[in-house]
Amino acid sequence: MRYLPFLTCREASRLITAELDRALNPFERLGLTMHLKICDACPIVVRQMALVRRTIRELRDGSER
Ligand SMILES: [Zn+2]
Repeated sequence: MRYLPFLTCREASRLITAELDRALNPFERLGLTMHLKICDACPIVVRQMALVRRTIRELRDGSER
């Protein structure tokens, strides 16, 4: 991946999704953090992803009993 401090929304959303599966490298994390500060739409995606992740975890924890 090329090094760019400012991502497009498309690149940012790809990183947000990737973060569900793997840890982001420092450049990816920096780029995403910078983007979220200047973008109105992507922080909403992050919140939705966090909610999805929490719901999945709760469902999984609930079924382990
Ligand atoms: Zn964006």
